Amino acid sequence: MREAIDRARRGGWHLRKTLGHGFGRIFCRRVEPGGAVCKVPIFTTPQRPEDRAKDILRAFRDCPHHHADQTTDLSYAHGLVDGAEKLLDAAEDFLDAEEATAGSEEAWQKAQDLLALATVSAEEVDRIMEIAQKFDAEARTLTQRGWVRGAEAGGSDGSPGSYVTLAEERMEEAADVADKARNRHDPTLITLKARVVATKGRIVSLRLRLDPR
Ligand SMILES: [Zn+2]
Repeated sequence: MREAIDRARRGGWHLRKTLGHGFGRIFCRRVEPGGAVCKVPIFTTPQRPEDRAKDILRAFRDCPHHHADQTTDLSYAHGLVDGAEKLLDAAEDFLDAEEATAGSEEAWQKAQDLLALATVSAEEVDRIMEIAQKFDAEARTLTQRGWVRGAEAGGSDGSPGSYVTLAEERMEEAADVADKARNRHDPTLITLKARVVATKGRIVSLRLRLDPR
């Protein structure tokens, strides 16, 4: 089965593992999104590996997209990077919102501490409460924007970690397209490679923000 998968991948198909479910799928990246043809599910421990290998090879042989040109592949890959960028924007919004919420909590706490002192002026407490409200409003705006930007690119659970993981999967696929492009001097390929590098850098720094140990 490994051989059948490798054969299809050399022919431009892409293998995507589904995280945590013990399987994935191999598919033709030239098919329209949502198209029913040109994809085969892969299980890590299939009942009959030799039959699954035949299924993969048959689907690959019947795939009508083998002659798609490099331009089509590269514009598909640029689309993947667009999606990954949106997901990372969304993840950043959620992380910024968390920071704003923490700022608000700190301000409320400060206001309460001051109220406990008999000497504090009402103006001073008002001023700090106003700061807390500003943080709250900012957190709400950022969270909303994160949901919208994430939804545009297929994110759906509002968790920055899972949006970064989705972006990572897209970047792997885009890098795979870049590796397989035959005309190495294609300017669209060169910009794609630059975008892949930049986006992978953003993923690294977001991972650090998510897990700063
Ligand atoms: Zn196909």
